[in-house]
Amino acid sequence: ANIPNNDYDYLFKVVMSGDLGVGKSNILSRITTNEFHVESRSTIGVEFTTRTYHIDNKIIKAQIWDTARRYAAFASLYHREAKGVLLVYDITNHSTFENVELWLKKIRESIDANNVVIMLVGNKSDLEDSRQVSIEEGKSFAEREQLLFIETSALDATNIEEGFTIFLNHIYNNVT
Ligand code: GDP
Ligand code: MG
Repeated sequence: ANIPNNDYDYLFKVVMSGDLGVGKSNILSRITTNEFHVESRSTIGVEFTTRTYHIDNKIIKAQIWDTARRYAAFASLYHREAKGVLLVYDITNHSTFENVELWLKKIRESIDANNVVIMLVGNKSDLEDSRQVSIEEGKSFAEREQLLFIETSALDATNIEEGFTIFLNHIYNNVT
């Protein structure tokens, strides 16, 4: 049931997931405050930031959760209500891409697969010279697993706004 609220029409909880160092916190700060941090700042536990969007004349409040601990977040009751997951890997670090399979398993164990939109995000696309995961590799994995797919750079902001908009629109279509 929808609880009436003056601030927004829909509240979408979304979760950042993926290995340490892939750029989750920087993607989040790009989305919410358009900032980038060269030094990695550790995320303490779980924290969220919100940003308001307009889709279809509706006010959408995106509440984006950033996590530090491996897999732990998905065990929490709160994350079971997530409407979307951004599953991030680093295109310059192949093992972070290999671990996507493990992350996906954890996500699907804890969130109803029919009600969640998962976007696979290959981040650090600005580091083309150090690329270890091809676009094709990312794309075909996403197709096989029925995930949305995008490559981004939190550093130069490539595809961050576009990717998140596509992601939110899919969530919106999923719930309406
Ligand atoms: P998290 O552990 O997944 O939250 O990753 P962080 O956001 O803390 O980023 C880890 C490191 O990668 C930091 O030094 C960031 O500055 C760097 N980083 C994050 N995104 C990008 C990106 O798109 N391009 C480049 N070149 N570096 C990035
Ligand atoms: Mg972080």
